[in-house]
Amino acid sequence: MAGKLVKCPICRKPVTWEGNPHRPFCSERCKLVDLGHWLSEDYRISVPRDILEDEKEVDDGKV
Ligand SMILES: [Zn+2]
Repeated sequence: MAGKLVKCPICRKPVTWEGNPHRPFCSERCKLVDLGHWLSEDYRISVPRDILEDEKEVDDGKV
């Protein structure tokens, strides 16, 4: 057996389940994308405004 393959819920790429630290995602990036999805939807309500404002400032500083 060559190890179980699962589809990454974000990019639909087949990824190995065993030995994959980011499962069920293919990579840390997709994991963060998924986290971002629910940060922007569910979490926004309970995250203090200050944190969001801080992130904005950092972004603005870069540009
Ligand atoms: Zn992926």
